[in-house]
Amino acid sequence: MSAPKPAPDLTTLAARAGEEARPNRSAPLVEPIYQSTVYAFADLDDLDRAMSGEEPASFYYRNGTPNAATLERALAALEGTEAALVAGSGMAAISAALLGVLRAGDHVVTDARVYGVTYALLAEEFPRLGIEVSFVDACNHEEVAAAFRPQTRVLHVESLTNPLMTVPDLPALAALAHGRGALLSVDNTFASPAMLRPAEHGADLVTHSVSKYLSGHSAAFGGVVCGRADLMALARTRLLRLGGTMSAFDAWMTLQGLKTLGLRMRAHSGNAQAVADVLVNHPRVKAVYHPGLSDHPQFHLAMDLFPNGFGGMLSAEIEDAPGFVRALAGRIPLAPSLADVVTTLSWPWGTSHRPLPETERRRLGITPGLLRLSIGIEDIGDLLGEFEAALES
Ligand SMILES: *Cc1c(COP(=O)(O)O)cnc(C)c1O
Repeated sequence: MSAPKPAPDLTTLAARAGEEARPNRSAPLVEPIYQSTVYAFADLDDLDRAMSGEEPASFYYRNGTPNAATLERALAALEGTEAALVAGSGMAAISAALLGVLRAGDHVVTDARVYGVTYALLAEEFPRLGIEVSFVDACNHEEVAAAFRPQTRVLHVESLTNPLMTVPDLPALAALAHGRGALLSVDNTFASPAMLRPAEHGADLVTHSVSKYLSGHSAAFGGVVCGRADLMALARTRLLRLGGTMSAFDAWMTLQGLKTLGLRMRAHSGNAQAVADVLVNHPRVKAVYHPGLSDHPQFHLAMDLFPNGFGGMLSAEIEDAPGFVRALAGRIPLAPSLADVVTTLSWPWGTSHRPLPETERRRLGITPGLLRLSIGIEDIGDLLGEFEAALES
């Protein structure tokens, strides 16, 4: 009897997932980009099998390209879910995931700390469709439980919140939601499946902006939702009718970035922890938000949920934030996104959280002096030297 095959490490899985062996004698090692809006069929039977879904085959671009299908296989493998659905943006994926299971009269409970546009989607668009939403502190389980109603269908949170790096207790929230017949939806963009797989902790819907860590180079744009095949089928119907298809080129680009996910996340995590450790002791830094610091409010939970580190994100309240940004100009760019291989700075007050009312931003701890750091994969000595010089200037 042969020994059972060990499951591959995530680094291996990320490098290989999705692409399937092609039968030709000489086949391209990298899948080509299928830039065709329509596919030709040999006869009516073939077309019928494709249209009915009996034999999955591409037939029209909006319904999915071969590149998107390859990326879906890869992302389902990485998140450890039955299926995945890629979309034209992270917001398209979140919208399709939630609208797949919601209808007028339903109710959603969400962490108030979610990404600014997710907040606006839930606060302003869903009520127009007759879906009510309650905003809570997802770290306060009594508050979460009290917000549930008989009509609550979904609890939505982020696995690491933007920008203060709060860590919700996913197993506890999954138990709470499932106990009341609701689904747990987790935006896993900040963590990536290299750091955390929410489905292992009970999440039913796992979403990402693939424009961030999954693609990793600020050059591909799109989103994904991962989960059970029946939930993905519901989301796919909504997505295709609303027109949220991902482009073949973005799917292809994301797949190239994905191959180094394991290596990149290891480098991002180590560098971010080192930067947090230095900033927290600096006299010109008022506060540092990173789950690997012992004063983080969910430090112990974070260490349990994230055994391999926390990725590259942290935030810091700097004494003279405008001066710090100016001193780093030309080396560390101010760019309102995240997860590039190069380090970038962002200003949550004026960008990601701009849609929130000013009082709500302050209540959440998002002040005008707060900078979010997306730590890249550069040499850590170079990075620390640049930060220290900027703080001294
Ligand atoms: C960027 C981001 C989104 C939105 O994704 P898009 O691809 O920009 O539509 C959603 N959630 C989080 C946590 C993000 O960082």
